[in-house]
Amino acid sequence: MKNRKRVPYDTFVTPTPRPIPLVDLAAESAELAEPIRAAIAEVLASMQFVLGPNLRRFEEEFGPVAGASETIAVGSGTDAIAFALRACGVEPGDEVVTTPYTFIATTEAILHAGARPVYADVDPETGLLDADDVARRITPRTRAILPVHLFGQPADLDELSAIARGRGLRLVEDAAQAHGARYGERPVGSFGDAAAFSFYPSKNLGAYGDGGCVTTNDPEIARRVRRLRDHGRAGRHLHEEVGFTSRLDEIQAAVLRVKLPRLQGWNARRRALAARYRQRLRSPARPYAEKEGRESVYHLYAVRVPDREAVAARLEAARVAFGIYYPRPNHLQPALEFLGHREGSFPNAERLSRETIAVPCHPYLRDEDVDRIAELLSG
Ligand SMILES: *Cc1c(COP(=O)(O)O)cnc(C)c1O
Repeated sequence: MKNRKRVPYDTFVTPTPRPIPLVDLAAESAELAEPIRAAIAEVLASMQFVLGPNLRRFEEEFGPVAGASETIAVGSGTDAIAFALRACGVEPGDEVVTTPYTFIATTEAILHAGARPVYADVDPETGLLDADDVARRITPRTRAILPVHLFGQPADLDELSAIARGRGLRLVEDAAQAHGARYGERPVGSFGDAAAFSFYPSKNLGAYGDGGCVTTNDPEIARRVRRLRDHGRAGRHLHEEVGFTSRLDEIQAAVLRVKLPRLQGWNARRRALAARYRQRLRSPARPYAEKEGRESVYHLYAVRVPDREAVAARLEAARVAFGIYYPRPNHLQPALEFLGHREGSFPNAERLSRETIAVPCHPYLRDEDVDRIAELLSG
């Protein structure tokens, strides 16, 4: 009898580990479920869905995050970049210098603005746009420089600003992954002539759908972006240019207003987790280099590993989600073949695209999760 009731052998084996997601939107939504439901219900009751009070208030509330006097909320981060470029005077025939080691939206936005993307390679240790290489790529047709604050770390803004000033170029920041990141004493989003943020759900500040915004301290640029997002409208029945339908809708603005007060706390938690990763990682895994005087917001925690397939297999077996950003740099994408680049054109970007793996660093991750993941990465 006794024997039949024996505890099964399996009980003594390590239980299947709890799966760890790359981003934990469920945890965040559970915590904010009540205020978000109330905010959405209010929008539904008001029957005001576009260009309403939530949009206006969100634009006021977001300004300090970017240190900018003007925020213009639009339909997506991609539109935000394209509108920022156009409002800075980028026109068909112009060239915009940017990084190939980014999400394809950076390049798409340049093309949507009618300009030609010209790539400069990235710094091999940080993955950020290499300012020296940017200077070499400038031609008489160059109109703007578009750096990306990659994975939340601010780009080399002093060097790039100096180049832009010296050559009479515009500087537009792709801050889609860097809400609240700091360069020196100031947040990113007000170093260039304009900056673009994305509110795609998985970004550090995410909506329940698509959204984005442009920030600027230049009222003329702000006016032009406001016009572009709303059919080129200058008055009720007056259209000064051919524009777009790209306004952050009231439901998204209401959701973002609930989340915005949490952003700095979430970012602080991401930074604490990143510090722990840095402490625990061992060779041959190594974190991306971080520049002094910059505060990344770790949209993703990117690590370089020599044998990515083996690391990926270990993470998968341990039920830890991971992401490969970006396995194919922009200049090698089939959609951009017409730009005429090939393998070897931007070796630093290509090397990072082979060695990088991104692991969870979201605010709901636990310290012991970091220890476990660091062990798997270093193993
Ligand atoms: C997400 C992202 C974008 C585009 O934002 P969407 O809101 O998805 O259009 C642009 N650039 C970078 C670097 C991004 O990560």
